[in-house]
Amino acid sequence: MTDHASTGLIHHPYHPPEGFEAPQPGVHKASTVIFRDVAAMRARDWRSKAGYTYGLHGTPTTFTLEARIAHLEHGRDTLLTPSGLAAIALVDLALLGQGDELLIPLNAYGPGKSVARHQLARYGIGHRFYDPMAPDSLAAAIGPTTRLVWLEAPGSVTMEFPDLPALIAVARARGLLTALDNTWGAGIAFDGFAVGGGCDVVVQALTKYPSGGGDVLMGAVTTVDEALHLRLKAAHMDLGLGVGANDAEAVLRALPSIALRYHAQDRTARALAAWLRGQPQVAQVLHPALEGSPGHAHWRAACSAAAGLFSIVFDPQLAPARVDAFVDALRLFRIGYSWGGAVSLAVPYDLKAMRDPAPYEGTLVRFSIGLEAEADLRADLAQALAVLR
Ligand SMILES: *Cc1c(COP(=O)(O)O)cnc(C)c1O
Repeated sequence: MTDHASTGLIHHPYHPPEGFEAPQPGVHKASTVIFRDVAAMRARDWRSKAGYTYGLHGTPTTFTLEARIAHLEHGRDTLLTPSGLAAIALVDLALLGQGDELLIPLNAYGPGKSVARHQLARYGIGHRFYDPMAPDSLAAAIGPTTRLVWLEAPGSVTMEFPDLPALIAVARARGLLTALDNTWGAGIAFDGFAVGGGCDVVVQALTKYPSGGGDVLMGAVTTVDEALHLRLKAAHMDLGLGVGANDAEAVLRALPSIALRYHAQDRTARALAAWLRGQPQVAQVLHPALEGSPGHAHWRAACSAAAGLFSIVFDPQLAPARVDAFVDALRLFRIGYSWGGAVSLAVPYDLKAMRDPAPYEGTLVRFSIGLEAEADLRADLAQALAVLR
């Protein structure tokens, strides 16, 4: 031991005893990973999780979270990304090249469409939209350069649940890769690798249900096929996509309760959706588990549960400003994007700005149900609807 404070504080010989175990895995923070000797450094293989190379390429904390998300999604390998959107962009960039084309459902998560429109287009990668509620529309959109088909169930905001087995069959028959945005299903409502012929890649915004707190941004890209995983992993490394250890820990801490939270939010959301259907100002309730909602039969065939997310379309006679007043009048429901957290949220959407032609007349409000008591949320909706009388 040296007498010098700095060296002694950095190279202190004390090591805590091995064998510590606690309910939560430890938080390992690293850019630098220290090797035993030069041979160990040279022997490291980036493909393998048997060792560590550099913080960006994995730590015990991120490897543990990857393994648990792979379990949740019924896959083999998972890569973590700094957001759900980064997971979508990674899949696009890893699997497409100049001259290729990808197909996106026209009701897909908006920022994912923007990646294709504004980024992929600059690299000579084309895209087309298809109507996910019409498998023929997918078949018709496939061209000689199509390589990848995105799937999402249900559609963001408008909540149509597609016939996933039919869409997957169309893509498979043409030899195309399929990537599913499984943020809504969260690995709980259905198995993305088993539905129909099974998807090739399953993406999830861990920001939503796995985090459950409205305080973490993270995404995941899960696969079953190892060669496909290694293609994605090579691009993941080249793009320098890493996640913070404390964020990974926050998701690890929330994962054990994900199924409990998912089912609780599902129960409350279904009860509120059914109640809203009986309210005179509401023209339509869009919730795939509700009889009469677009794609309900496909939801029933594929799913054992639903996320706590639904939308309502107001009577077209009601001016958008009045719908804004309804949202402003809500007290327990807060105004904000995202979902899967404890706080219930409401967002009004201008359908005409999202999709041309707009699928519905009238203004849409999307609700994310949190963990508050159903009776309190219903009373909140009732008092805000009273503003419209
Ligand atoms: C939120 C969301 C994403 C993106 O997740 P971020 O972590 O917010 O980037 C992607 N897809 C769907 C369906 C989402 O709801």
